[in-house]
Amino acid sequence: MDSAVRMESPGDAAPRKQPADLRNALTVDVEDYFQVSAFAGTISRQSWDDWPRRIERNMAILLELFAERGLQVTFFILGWIAERYPQMVRRIVDAGHELASHGYDHQRVTALDAKAFRVDVERAKGILEDCSGVRVIGYRAPSFSINERTPWAVDCLLETGHRYSSSLYPIAHDHYGAPRASRWPFQPRPGSGFLELPVATARIAGRNWPAAGGGYFRLLPYAISRWSLRRINQREVRPFIFYLHPWEIDPEQPRPAGLPARTRFRHYVNLSRTQRRLERLIEDFHWDRVDRVFLPEKPA
Ligand SMILES: [Zn+2]
Repeated sequence: MDSAVRMESPGDAAPRKQPADLRNALTVDVEDYFQVSAFAGTISRQSWDDWPRRIERNMAILLELFAERGLQVTFFILGWIAERYPQMVRRIVDAGHELASHGYDHQRVTALDAKAFRVDVERAKGILEDCSGVRVIGYRAPSFSINERTPWAVDCLLETGHRYSSSLYPIAHDHYGAPRASRWPFQPRPGSGFLELPVATARIAGRNWPAAGGGYFRLLPYAISRWSLRRINQREVRPFIFYLHPWEIDPEQPRPAGLPARTRFRHYVNLSRTQRRLERLIEDFHWDRVDRVFLPEKPA
């Protein structure tokens, strides 16, 4: 019924390159530990301001780590965070990173209607552009929540001046995922130039497996992540998108009481190892910003 989520088919966006030339997109979803969707049943939005914030500390570590290696990446930032840390947004832009939107306050797109979604994305884009002075063209939905139930989301992103979305995780998952969606960049509205850029999956034994980051990256041995991602570059000769959150390198973050056991496990598993793992990942692949990897012509 809709073209927001297309069946598996060859991508039509990125030209083929040799594996050695491939730069992948490293992305950071800038939100604090108390804002993750899995905590929403325990921590209300109204109480966010009461929690000790860790975002500045964690972002300082990430920005330093990227600066030491001369890396420029893409930050999908919540409007809620940008409002409170405009100097952090400017620091990101001054370091040459791409500034992109993660919506205002991390509401899943599937929990909104078209009108409420438009309010959310316009508000976030406005805040980010006001505090940075640069144009924002990229968007990532909270919890990869653009799917076949939200066909209006793509039209809204187009109308509000976005040029791409990286909001699809083509896997089966209890909280998110679109297992039948394309694994490669595609134009959900053909001819519009607007791209959907799904995050990395490994195609093994006829199934899509998560390879883009998050709990899987922390839980499984690093060698599995590296093998899955290398397959994408070397066998499929495609760039991939990886994502992480600032709270994933922070084992000292406050631990709210009352979280379900599965949420606790997924959120806290191997936090103390993630920074070292991220450093290895950065060494093992070539990286750049999303816009430079997937929109090779300079955005207008
Ligand atoms: Zn998020």
